[in-house]
Amino acid sequence: MLVRPRPPERLLGAEGACTDRPVEPAHDVMVWMRATFIDEEAPLLNEEHAHLREAMIGVLWCAEPNARQGNAVVGQCETTQFQGGRWAKVRQHQQLQEWFGFLPHFLITLDAGYADQCSDAQFCSLVEHELLHAGQERDGYGAPKFRKDGSPAFAMRGHDVEEFVSIVARYGVGAAAGRTAELVEAASRAPLICEAEVAGACGTCGRSLTYA
Ligand SMILES: [Zn+2]
Repeated sequence: MLVRPRPPERLLGAEGACTDRPVEPAHDVMVWMRATFIDEEAPLLNEEHAHLREAMIGVLWCAEPNARQGNAVVGQCETTQFQGGRWAKVRQHQQLQEWFGFLPHFLITLDAGYADQCSDAQFCSLVEHELLHAGQERDGYGAPKFRKDGSPAFAMRGHDVEEFVSIVARYGVGAAAGRTAELVEAASRAPLICEAEVAGACGTCGRSLTYA
């Protein structure tokens, strides 16, 4: 039985704000997100994550608030990169090994305070948003790329749509960049995952779901 994972108590509230250890590996989120969105039998399966069945993904809770241009950043996904000289790199390598027991292809960080306060649907959409950034390289024809050993060539993936609302409002969706038309169409349909299903899969609304 898998319920929506919660950040540890010590990272929350005033206690979390003054901790000198604001980061903690979220092993339960790593299990939960695979069972919920990625595995073939996942109840909220999104085939866009299929390549992640072969990916090592580390997840961290962080108590330190983060913001960019005045907006709270509540989640982040990055590829594992080591920076600095040789000793800085081995330190970072060892830190990841100690947290996860493996070296992740992708590292996802979630804001502990937000994750504690948000609804099930918000938590699911946050985790899926970060998972969608964990992409696979594409060749010139749009086909997914693989490494020599047959494993997917993992890479960061940008948002599908980057456009100004003003352009769509003034010139219509035909004038908008990239996949904006697809986004508008998706927004006009009922969501594939309704609130009730999310609550069921997250198991926090009195209903809990057993993953067989
Ligand atoms: Zn994003």
